[in-house]
Amino acid sequence: MAYLFYMNKDVNVSILGCTGSIGQNTISVINAGTKFSGVNFCALTGNNNIERLIDVALKLKPRFVATANGEKYKELKNGLLGTGIEVAAGEQAVLEAASMKADWIMNAIIGAAGVLPSFTAVKNSKILALANKETLVCAGTLFMKNVQDNNCLLLPVDSEHSALFQCLHGYDINDVEKLILTASGGPFYRWSLDQMRSATFSEAIKHPKWSMGDRISIDSASMFNKALELIEAKHMFGINSDKIDVVVHPQSIIHSMVEYIDGSIIAHLSEPDMRGAIGFALNYPDRKSNNSKKIDLFSIGALELFRPDFERFPAIRIAIEVMKRGGLFGAILNAAKEVALDRFIVGELGFLQMADLVFETINQNELLQLGSRKDYSLDDVVEVDALARRLSSNIKMQLNK
Ligand code: NAD
Ligand code: MG
Repeated sequence: MAYLFYMNKDVNVSILGCTGSIGQNTISVINAGTKFSGVNFCALTGNNNIERLIDVALKLKPRFVATANGEKYKELKNGLLGTGIEVAAGEQAVLEAASMKADWIMNAIIGAAGVLPSFTAVKNSKILALANKETLVCAGTLFMKNVQDNNCLLLPVDSEHSALFQCLHGYDINDVEKLILTASGGPFYRWSLDQMRSATFSEAIKHPKWSMGDRISIDSASMFNKALELIEAKHMFGINSDKIDVVVHPQSIIHSMVEYIDGSIIAHLSEPDMRGAIGFALNYPDRKSNNSKKIDLFSIGALELFRPDFERFPAIRIAIEVMKRGGLFGAILNAAKEVALDRFIVGELGFLQMADLVFETINQNELLQLGSRKDYSLDDVVEVDALARRLSSNIKMQLNK
């Protein structure tokens, strides 16, 4: 946490979504770097896993702990009785956590639930380490304006965006020919369309390279994760969508690349381990050793790169269309994707039908006008998200496996 420690005082850190995969990795990286010395935890948040939230809170002794689930207030309160830690529950409580003055705040909440906390965090924190890609997908233009207006330093945590950020360092974005995001291809990269049609939940969460939460693992299998990341990159780096490409790279060693106008391509390589990107965001602009896995180049052998197949992975094509439309179509895509994922998880949709549902939703007449707004507000984001969720939940689909 070099940048922060230059300030020569204890550093105030908050972690939103501290109980999840990124949240837990964040705690592990901070512990490895500091043994928590010189770190004051301000706010921690979680959702349903109260047992873990209590465990984390007892260890890190933050000032404030919130669960997004209003019904879990008592359980959380009881678990932290006598500790002096302030406890709250519900969506507002998460926003309260995001509004506490922090030097460094991690937003590792999953899904659209992380969008409003990001907007609150940029107003109150010096540095926002952003894992919640949905913030940029749903409200990228407005969010980047807020980041600038509040003079907050935004650091990417998504591995591809951390890689791009590192490859862009010191160069002019106008000299970029292409941002090239890598995709692992997920567990189904070599499966046929027929096999993918009947893919199950347990097959979809088995990511070959990354250890992540279930939802993002399924998004990786369908490449909806990459679809979101294309939109995330467009906003984070302020670049036209025709300058962003995806290449499938099953080894997941190259995390992304930047091609410059002089024909040079700069790539970022590391083991697929999120602690690397989290450590980078903690220590920026310095580099400190962290507890991520290190590459043994000689054991890798070949690094393969392939063109993505749009037929088996239509999510990429949908993202390209959504970037072309702009406005609030990212929020529509994300809401429909979250509903599709829920419907897949409960067995209501086949694996490939998730993309069918998203495609149908982005083309619903009721969404076209609101979705096309370029000068939208945060209220519009909330409205379009709710409408897209309602419509996509009501679209009838015959289960096709
Ligand atoms: P996860 O499911 O493991 O954890 C999600 C966290 O969000 C938990 O702490 C949970 O309590 C909290 N949460 C869930 N629903 C919530 C709600 N309605 N309101 C408030 N909090 C809620 O997810 P994850 O895999 O850690 O991913 C977190 C974010 O990071 C996602 O946006 C994901 O796309 C991104 N990301 C994750 C990885 C990874 O390796 N896991 C990599 C890159 C980017
Ligand atoms: Mg990623």
